[in-house]
Amino acid sequence: MSAKVNKGKRATKATLSDCEPCDSLSGSLTRYMSNGLGNEEYSEQQLFHALALSVRDQMLNNWRQTRTKDSQYQTKHVAYLSLEFLMGRALGNALLNLQLEDESRAALQQYAIDLEEIESLEHDAGLGNGGLGRLAACFLDSCASMDISVTGYGIRYEYGMFAQKIVDGYQIERPDRWLRDGNPWEVRVPKHNVIVPFFGRTQVYIDKDGRRNTSWVDTQDVVAAAYDMPVPGYRNDRINTLRLWKSEATDDFDLKEFNQGDYTEAVASKNLAEQITMVLYPNDTSENGKELRLRQQYFLSSASLQDLLNNWVMHQGTDFSGFAKAYVMQLNDTHPSIAIPELMRLLVDKYFLGWDQAWSITTSTMAYTNHTLLPEALERWPVRIFEQMLPRILEIIYEINARYLDDVAHHWPGDGKMLAKMSIIEEGEVPHVRMAYLAIVASFSVNGVAGLHTQLLTSGLFKHFYDLWPEKFNNRTNGVTPRRWLAHCNPRLSALLTARLGDGWVKNLHHLQKLKDVAEDVTLLTKWQEVKLANKVDLTHMIAKECGVQFDPTMMFDVQVKRIHEYKRQLLNILHVIHLYHQIQQGNTDDIVPRCVLIGGKAAPGYAMAKLLIKLANNVAHMVNSDPLVSRYLRFAFLPNYNVSAMEKICPATDLSEQISTAGKEASGTGNMKFMMNGALTIGTLDGANIEMLEEVGEENFFLFGLNANEVTSLRGHYDPNRFIAASSDLSHVMELLESGHFNLLEPEIFDPIIHAIKSPSDPWMTAADFESYRLAQVKVAIAYRDRENWTKMSIYNTASSGRFSSDVTIAGYRDDIWRA
Ligand SMILES: *Cc1c(COP(=O)(O)O)cnc(C)c1O
Repeated sequence: MSAKVNKGKRATKATLSDCEPCDSLSGSLTRYMSNGLGNEEYSEQQLFHALALSVRDQMLNNWRQTRTKDSQYQTKHVAYLSLEFLMGRALGNALLNLQLEDESRAALQQYAIDLEEIESLEHDAGLGNGGLGRLAACFLDSCASMDISVTGYGIRYEYGMFAQKIVDGYQIERPDRWLRDGNPWEVRVPKHNVIVPFFGRTQVYIDKDGRRNTSWVDTQDVVAAAYDMPVPGYRNDRINTLRLWKSEATDDFDLKEFNQGDYTEAVASKNLAEQITMVLYPNDTSENGKELRLRQQYFLSSASLQDLLNNWVMHQGTDFSGFAKAYVMQLNDTHPSIAIPELMRLLVDKYFLGWDQAWSITTSTMAYTNHTLLPEALERWPVRIFEQMLPRILEIIYEINARYLDDVAHHWPGDGKMLAKMSIIEEGEVPHVRMAYLAIVASFSVNGVAGLHTQLLTSGLFKHFYDLWPEKFNNRTNGVTPRRWLAHCNPRLSALLTARLGDGWVKNLHHLQKLKDVAEDVTLLTKWQEVKLANKVDLTHMIAKECGVQFDPTMMFDVQVKRIHEYKRQLLNILHVIHLYHQIQQGNTDDIVPRCVLIGGKAAPGYAMAKLLIKLANNVAHMVNSDPLVSRYLRFAFLPNYNVSAMEKICPATDLSEQISTAGKEASGTGNMKFMMNGALTIGTLDGANIEMLEEVGEENFFLFGLNANEVTSLRGHYDPNRFIAASSDLSHVMELLESGHFNLLEPEIFDPIIHAIKSPSDPWMTAADFESYRLAQVKVAIAYRDRENWTKMSIYNTASSGRFSSDVTIAGYRDDIWRA
């Protein structure tokens, strides 16, 4: 271990503040702190920077060694391609994985500041929207920790996920300049820069051997500049790489204009190139069809594949016969699926492989993960955009499609409708490229992210593809890393678990099962409660500061944090809060268990209904909290700017986790797993991974309600929300309050769209249908929470049963069944 070696060296070097190289953590911290202007003044931000740089330096040796080892191609190398990596902060996680926490605390002593405060100064790397991006981040941690050779490829957005402010109850978006103080973790590596072409036209030519080739000419080229971030494994010396691409202008930009004397115009045109990686698109589960987004996708895909191929050619030459044994590309949704025709282009146009060999390589290295069934999230790009921006790529897609449609014709002879239905090109007034179809056709593996999700994919959306190629389809239920989501974010529970079980659970979460044997132990129960209470006290401070609402840690903490989307049904939660409010005002308080309800999450800036739900939550919160009688029993807050760092404080402090999506709509969910690991009980529908959580923990430790996916489907077409409203006096009262304008007295009619949505027979989310069942489940929650000892046992059971939802388990599945790494 490097830490031990360093300790030995430090004995002789610790007193030298300017030693070179300075390889102990405290030595380099001193060095970085004295590298300023030599005065005593420093900001806490500088101290964070110095510590992060020192920690990074500790990784450099192992980082280099990991690379050297991986470039010998003894094991398969995985490229994880994703437009999003929602990493959050890196310092705390690095210290945990590298076992440098004690050393850091000691090194910080002379600055009279504690580690937690320094950690809080790091800006979140918010390069993702929500679950999909966070999954990529959890996977990177698991791969490194399981000693799998993986490179994450992504985009170095200048502006990450917007910061959310709440003004008068409305969401306001603020740009997230996460790089404003610099990024101490990244290393710019110009030797890995590549050129990505756009626009231009294609040209056929005959080479000296008489072969017909195609070249893509008159292109507008953009530099992809490589920035590497270290991904340390958990105490195993492996440091993987997250390589993020930044777009830059080439040096010979617009030489023509330059020569005509338009020097300033030419320099200004740099902007066009640099726009590509300027900002993350803030749409979760919906596509906006903007051309710049497609540019980002191609930019990432091309840069990453060129990087892989350059590496191969450097070590193995231009014989690609062993390539497919050495590489696999996992596509995180269809966002990077343009990598498929791009790999074909590079192999055929640049390395002159025949089509069949190139296709064989492509189809044995590409694997696609689907993340959603929502039709609005399925990517389709107008053919016209491709024609202009990526003419060579479009030709290749046409060729792939023509050959593939031959197979379709074979499988369904004489069925012309099938050809149109399954074509990668959707015909119509505006023809489109169907990216999911392209991904399925070219991938050897197509996976869903939870059992139900995969089942719905193969029986619905992708049924015909499943008929054609059943062997491609498989399920890999999502998971979350127990390093960040338990060991790091919940040090109190961590210490308790380790004291009871040893620390093996951090690498093998199934060890938590052993808790079941001691779940009756009175001292464990007491300590478990003490931990939860202390975590709730901590969260209370955050809520007071961020929302101006005083939560009471003796009350139940009932939490729903996730992106705001109609299918996730924050509305159902808000309606239940209104119901409790009404009950309390009516004096029906006997059965009420005091609770603090927290909702948090961002709405896509263009998603009006989601933004209105935020407004409703804030208005209801205002009414609830300003009524002194009500707030004895109920408090309600909307937390602004939900992000990874917020979740690290929230999930350890939650009693009840709300996972209440309309059945069949949430592909998996991962927030649900973070809560479960940290001992929250779940109130939830039979959706996504909730189903598997319920299986693990048992019905007696889970609050199940609502229609299942089949029932939702069968109700569609003759759904009558007004019948459900009439049948429930509680829902009727809630609707009356809402319709009376009680929550918007000075803002007449603003919530009408929400009221209409609830009462619409075509409401896809069927909120009214599930209200009564949800309310009854909440009554059971309240009864269960009264028996604090039994609640605690249920909480222990949830943590104990969460082993299956470690992303280590998920990654073991990818490794063994897909990557064969
Ligand atoms: C885990 C996580 C998510 C995903 O939450 P779901 O409840 O699964 O939608 C989204 N955002 C952040 C910041 C997360 O940490």
